[in-house]
Amino acid sequence: MRELEERIARDGVVKAGNVLKVDAFLNHQCDVELFDHMGAEWARLFSGEAITKILTIEASGIGIACVAARHFGGVPVVFAKKAQSINLDGEQYATTIYSYTKQKEYPVIVGARFLNKGDRVLIIDDFLANGCALEGLIELCRQAGAEVAGIGIAIEKVHQGGGDRLRERGFRVESLARIAAMDDETGEIAFA
Ligand code: 5GP
Repeated sequence: MRELEERIARDGVVKAGNVLKVDAFLNHQCDVELFDHMGAEWARLFSGEAITKILTIEASGIGIACVAARHFGGVPVVFAKKAQSINLDGEQYATTIYSYTKQKEYPVIVGARFLNKGDRVLIIDDFLANGCALEGLIELCRQAGAEVAGIGIAIEKVHQGGGDRLRERGFRVESLARIAAMDDETGEIAFA
C-alpha cells in the first residue's frame, strides 16, 4: 500500500536493534484517516472470506482493528489482554508469547465467550517480525475452535522471516507495507 510506505519513509525512524519507530502515526499518535485507508485495503483483500470477528492484541492493534472493523460490516473486535485482571472472569483461553521489542515473555488472554467455534477470524496487528505475537493469537483461536481466515498486518519486516514461516504453514498473510531491510546508521528503509 503506497500510502503507508510513503508515510513510513517520511515519518518512520530506524532504531538500533532492528526496530522501526512509527509512533508519529501508528504506535502512539494515531492517524485515523490512514487507519481507515488500511481497513479499506484489508477489506478488499479479504472480501469473500466471510469474516465474523477481528482479533488483535493490546495496545497498538486495537486502534487499527477497530477502524478496520467498520469496513467488515462492523464485526466485533476482540483484543487479547496481556495481563490478568479482576475484569477477566469466567473461562479463558491463554498462552504465552515472547515480545520482540520488550525482550520478555508475557501472557495473552481472551475470555472464552468472545471467541467461538465457528468464528472466521481475521487477525490484525501492527507489526510482523518473528511471528511470535501471531503464534499466540493463532493458538488462542485453536483453543476456541475458531478458524483463522486471514492475517492482516500493517508493517511486515520481511527479513525476520515470521511472515514466510506462517505462509508456508498455509496462513494467508496480507501485509500493507513490506520492509526488506533497514539501516539504523543511514536511516534507510528498503521496501520489498
Ligand atoms: P513478532 O512477535 O512478530 O516478533 O513481533 C511482533 C510484535 O512486536 C508487534 O506486535 C510489535 O508490537 C512488536 N514489534 C516488532 N518489531 C517491531 C518494530 O520494528 N517496531 C515496533 N514499533 N514494534 C515492533
